[in-house]
Amino acid sequence: MNDIVIIGSGASGLTTALYSARSGLNTLIIEKGTYGGQMMNTEDIENYSGFNKVNGEELSYHMYKQALDHGAKYMFGEVVSIEKNSNFFTISLKGKSEPIISKIVVIATGVKHKHLNVKGENEFSGRGVSYCAICDGAFFKKRNVIVVGGGDSALEEANYLTKFANEVTIVHRRDKFRGQQILQKRVFNNDKIKVLYNSQVIEITGDKKVDKVLIQGNDGVNKSLCVDGVFVYIGLQPNTEIFQSLGIVNEDGYIVTNEKLQTSIEGLFAVGDVRDKPVRQIATAVGDGAVAGVEISRYLENLS
Ligand code: NAP
Repeated sequence: MNDIVIIGSGASGLTTALYSARSGLNTLIIEKGTYGGQMMNTEDIENYSGFNKVNGEELSYHMYKQALDHGAKYMFGEVVSIEKNSNFFTISLKGKSEPIISKIVVIATGVKHKHLNVKGENEFSGRGVSYCAICDGAFFKKRNVIVVGGGDSALEEANYLTKFANEVTIVHRRDKFRGQQILQKRVFNNDKIKVLYNSQVIEITGDKKVDKVLIQGNDGVNKSLCVDGVFVYIGLQPNTEIFQSLGIVNEDGYIVTNEKLQTSIEGLFAVGDVRDKPVRQIATAVGDGAVAGVEISRYLENLS
């Protein structure tokens, strides 16, 4: 019997693991990909207090190592369901007949990038359409790419892509960005970036790879742009498909918790980006992990 099983190992999951393992609780992290979550897809992190600039992969590794150094265990596996049976949870994994049993479960499954849902997007995914500049940017050396979106991710990744691309065009559906001022300033000061406001991508075309996008202006006029890459950064959606039946998600799919990060199910907690909250940053994910770690210790003490 585990004291705590944490599903997901981004900043919030790893911090929960650090706090719970450090307080002597038997802690298991289950991850279906790699540790680090969204941090792994970020080159330079500049707004995590204590570091002027830190590489996302490096910060992920330090968080992972610190949790394990304090005694948390880590396993690869894909959770397909969790079920509450009297005082414990049964966690089933894909391809494993034996479930995992735990007193507490912490959902830290994060978010994934939304898709545009336009013609050609799925067909050219991995062949010019990407959701990860840090993974795929280097394939676009001296090429022309577009970035779709107007939030922090679009602005940050457009800047990042100018390391490789000849020209980066940001296609945004409104006439104003919603991303942070500092990121906007960098975009406006970057000679390699052009901005196309009031515009939406309506189709992506090509032969073996992307070679054009069809863009519709808010005035209804269409035009086509010759591009080699389309980077989609139009927001996030929570990884909560397997938790829908538990009655803990809101209408947008995010998990609702109280200030102790408990869901409406006794012993089930949620932390990080997957949770319904106003600010999604590494700092707030780490904050969630600290609160959950402490509250879970208190909760288990009260049970015994
Ligand atoms: P976001 O803040 O939700 O922005 C999504 C952008 O995509 C918005 O500009 C939105 O337009 C546009 N959009 C949404 N649906 C669209 C569609 N169907 N077609 C075209 N455009 C569409 O998402 P994000 O930029 O991925 O950021 C997510 C969270 O991570 C935010 O909380 C952000 O602050 C955080 N983040 C922080 C950093 C950092 O601190 N350095 C970096 C990356 C992300 P409208 O503006 O018109 O709604």
